[in-house]
This record gives sequence, structure tokens and C-alpha cells, in this order.
Amino acid sequence: MRDGYDVVALDNFHTGKRYNLNALLRNPRFTCIEHDIVNALPLGLQFDEIYNLACPASPPHYQEDPIHTFKTSVLGSLNLLELARQNNAKIFQASTSEVYGDPFVHPQPESYFGNVNTHGPRSCYDEGKRSAETLFFDYSRTYGLDIRVARIFNTYGRRMQPDDGRVVSNFIVQALRGQDLTVYGSGMQTRSFCYADDLIEGFVRLMNAPSAPAHPVNLGNPGEFTIMELATLVISYTNSRSKIVHRPLPVDDPRQRKPDISFARANLGWEPKISLSQGLAQTVDYFDTLLYGSKLVKGA
Ligand code: UDP
Repeated sequence: MRDGYDVVALDNFHTGKRYNLNALLRNPRFTCIEHDIVNALPLGLQFDEIYNLACPASPPHYQEDPIHTFKTSVLGSLNLLELARQNNAKIFQASTSEVYGDPFVHPQPESYFGNVNTHGPRSCYDEGKRSAETLFFDYSRTYGLDIRVARIFNTYGRRMQPDDGRVVSNFIVQALRGQDLTVYGSGMQTRSFCYADDLIEGFVRLMNAPSAPAHPVNLGNPGEFTIMELATLVISYTNSRSKIVHRPLPVDDPRQRKPDISFARANLGWEPKISLSQGLAQTVDYFDTLLYGSKLVKGA
């Protein structure tokens, strides 16, 4: 909207909260329609650009109703691709590092085809997003649609829900409440965490690039941390007395993950600017205010 766009948000509020939109709702350029993209879209919508970010992304949420998760990626993408075709609009798809599954290639370049279980508890998300990539590229080849597909690695930041269930928000909320931090498995598995503001800059650069890349583009922060390292950082940033406890490792939990972002660096001039420490500090402040209405006085 700051760039002069009128924005229409479609959301079924399955995992998000309306209060995150409070400031935007006052802006005449913004409209919010409660809708599930699995169902036929409201009539009369006209767009120049469409960003498809729909789908729960946290394992407990997307596994709650796996068939609906799969439909969101597949039927939802189909509905939006048809809308893009009718409007001759450019369309962005939020794909995921989960298309690499439990990868044998490390770090993961876009050319890696992945190692994904087709029938496990994560498959509804992984295979749904893989199918959506297929649909996007077939719409591009068949109808000449201008598509932009980003493979998003683990992302965190302000405005996540305290019960989101992913590791960064879980650890911060547990630490702020003085509860034990639940590390699944040994905690030696790794992830690369990107702050949301960096990611969104990557979306816009990918969408505005003069020509569409011929393949999906990795967007993520290449800094790689074990889950134990993350737990220790969160305890220190919150000055918490919480302890670390271990819980069973979920089925098919990837052992390592780190994006190769050479393509985005070279072609979009993009790389993350916000370190894990800076991003965690901001996210801790956000949750502290949300839960207790105060700002923590953090130690060194
Ligand atoms: N994890 C954990 N404790 C939690 C939540 C997650 O140890 O309370 C682990 C999880 O097993 C995985 C990593 O943290 O190895 C990242 O999990 P998340 O659900 O955030 O995202 P994923 O990359 O698995 O989709």
C-alpha cells in the first residue's frame, strides 16, 4: 500500500488472527475478505498481481486436517491460477524447503529434487506444495502465465501466534513463561532461520524481477543452527531460568536444512540482513509485550 497498490486479502483465519490486521483495516486501500481458497473464489475480483501464501505451515497445524492442507495447496493454487489467467495477472507461489524433504544434498540448491516421503504425516504439506509447483510451471508452459515461485526456508518473527507450534515461537513462549524448553530428539538436527522482514523483501524482489526465473528460487537465511543452539540462545535472550527437556523426534523430521541462495544473490541482489540474534531479540520483545504487556530488560 505504501507503494501505491490497492490490496485485497483473502484469509480463512485458520492460523492467523484478525487483530494482526487492525492497523490495515483503517486504510481505504485495503480490503479483507474471509474466504477459503479451496472453494470457488468470490466473483468480480480483478488483480494485477496475486501472492499465494495460503496454507498452515506449522507441522501440528497442517497435520490437524491433512486432507484440507493438501486441498489448500492443490485446489487453492488451481483456483488462483485460473484467476491469474482470467486477469492476465502475475502470480507468486509460496513454496517451501519441505520440497527437499530429508535432504541428502547439503546445502540445498534449487536443482536438487529432494527426498520426500509420499505417505507420511508430513506428506500432506510436502507433496501438496510439490504438486502446486507442478501446477504453476504447467500454467506457465501452457498459458504463458508469468509465475514466480519461492522456496521458503524456516521463517519467524513478530505476529506469530503463541500456539503456532514451530520451534522459535515455542521456545520463546516457553522461556518467557518459565516452562521447560521442549527439544525434540537430540536437538542435533539443524535449521536455518530467516527473519520475516528479510523474507518479504525477497518476495518483492522476486515479483519485481524483469523476467521470471525458469525455476523456483530458494529464499532463506543460510546461517545454520542446531536446535540445541537455538534453545540456548533463546534462554540467554530472555534471561530465563527455564531448563531444556527432550521429547520424541516427530516422524520424518528432516535432519539438516540450509539454503543455497546463490541464485537469489546473483539474480535478485537479495540476501538476508537480519542475524538470528537481532531477529530473536525483536521476536522476544513482541511476545513479551503480547503475553505480559511489558518489555523485557535483557542482559548481555
Ligand atoms: N522442534 C523442537 N521443539 C519444538 C518444536 C520443534 O525441538 O517445540 C524441532 C523440530 O523437531 C524440528 C525443528 O525444531 O527439528 C524445526 O521445527 P519446526 O516445526 O519449527 O519446523 P520444520 O522445519 O520441522 O517444519
